[in-house]
Amino acid sequence: MPYKKFEEYNMKVTDDVKDRYKNIIQDLGEDTERDGLLKTPERAAKAMQFLTQGYDQDPVEILKSAMFKESYNEMVIVKDIELYSLCEHHILPFFGKAHIAYIPNGYIVGLSKLPRILDVFARRLQVQERLTEQVLDCINDTLKPQGVAVVIEASHMCMMMRGVQKQNSITTTSGFRGQFEKSETRNEFLKLIGK
Ligand SMILES: [Zn+2]
Repeated sequence: MPYKKFEEYNMKVTDDVKDRYKNIIQDLGEDTERDGLLKTPERAAKAMQFLTQGYDQDPVEILKSAMFKESYNEMVIVKDIELYSLCEHHILPFFGKAHIAYIPNGYIVGLSKLPRILDVFARRLQVQERLTEQVLDCINDTLKPQGVAVVIEASHMCMMMRGVQKQNSITTTSGFRGQFEKSETRNEFLKLIGK
């Protein structure tokens, strides 16, 4: 199996993180013995393990598990892929959409694998810039296509709820390799994703 379903949690990690969450919640001024909070440290420990499960997954294996020899050599685009990640500076969510495109070079990849590898990298502590590069490099190095393009548009809770408190700003990052470095191909892609 190139990746496992997240059904069982590591008991030791859950216990350790749970104890720490209990301390954190107390340090923040809450009573961890009141009804609503009794199981919160454990739930939070499991939630954080779920949100960082990408560390245990191998995106290269995921792509390789669904590569097929095919002569199609036009642009393949999967757009508006839902994205949820955690900013590594504040451990607060950032979320939005990703658009991924590639031009095959003898091989295509199962379409669901593109969102899958996005999740593998997104379910780690991240910055949007590195997330964009990692998805780009993974596809480029594994599939070796004629070109690959990634655009990510995201809202960052660390900017919306704290800091500058800008609720409507969206951060866009993009990266292009191979054929997409030519403005004609890149512009066609940007037009097709509505940019
Ligand atoms: Zn942040």
